[in-house]
Amino acid sequence: MHRTVVTITTLTMYHHIKQLMYSVHVGTPDPRFGNMLLEQFGGANGELAAAMQYSVQGLNCDDPERKDLLMDIGTEELSHLEVVGTLARMHLKPLKSDRDAAHADPLIAIAGGGGVALHNSMGNAWTADYLKITGELDVDLRSNIAAEARAKIVYERLIGFTDDPGTIDTLQFLMSREITHMKAFTAALESMGKPAFSIGYIPPTPKLVNQYFNDSTGVGDRGEPDARGPWNDGSEWEMVTAPALQELTSYKAGTRSPTEDSGGSNGHSSDGKPLRAIREKPQAVETAKLARKKTKK
Ligand code: MN
Ligand code: MN
Repeated sequence: MHRTVVTITTLTMYHHIKQLMYSVHVGTPDPRFGNMLLEQFGGANGELAAAMQYSVQGLNCDDPERKDLLMDIGTEELSHLEVVGTLARMHLKPLKSDRDAAHADPLIAIAGGGGVALHNSMGNAWTADYLKITGELDVDLRSNIAAEARAKIVYERLIGFTDDPGTIDTLQFLMSREITHMKAFTAALESMGKPAFSIGYIPPTPKLVNQYFNDSTGVGDRGEPDARGPWNDGSEWEMVTAPALQELTSYKAGTRSPTEDSGGSNGHSSDGKPLRAIREKPQAVETAKLARKKTKK
């Protein structure tokens, strides 16, 4: 018996196994629902966008452990693409011959013959503009956590628009996996041990970074308040009331430039005096009309 020993020196990057990651069963095809499913095929929060975002981030990643994570999840998203594409195609198949069904997605009916292409539900072509890739691992992981949250909510809405048990079963699987990924990306970010607001290497300007600009003032027609909460209230926050209106009355009141003690190089007026950010108690809000009168004097 002759035996051949094959030594593989170069591994292929991807390998396709002719089996779906999760089974897909459709009772009665629903062409209009098939059109909706395209959001998760060629849409902004869809599976191709996820697969490409994580895989290309992984390509850029110099941290071997987290690169492995990005490649694992990026590859799983390709498997999701295959599942959701199969599901969409099953729902869209009647478009091939049924004139009424064709109205659900004329592009698929006429150009695609009932088959899916990389478009969203409105027929817009998939674009790399959907991807968030910064080359900064912790920043990318934050984008990924948000992307998973968006994918989850889109699946949830899709589940809400179908009664087909097989379809719901598949979508429930895909939706659950997005939360799995969200958990993994969150754990990966936390395990980097970076303080929550430490992004990049240049620290933000002290004081300025803790100023909250109350740039939308007054009470709205429906009672929308000037809200206070942990996002602008508390020991580290300094509330700056209507900085734009205050600037109309005094050039010193500008808050767009760093203070003189923060070492900013551009915080000077034309006469060489340093501009001061508002440090004192917030002043009362003035109307633009009143402010104009004052400056005329
Ligand atoms: Mn997915
Ligand atoms: Mn995912």
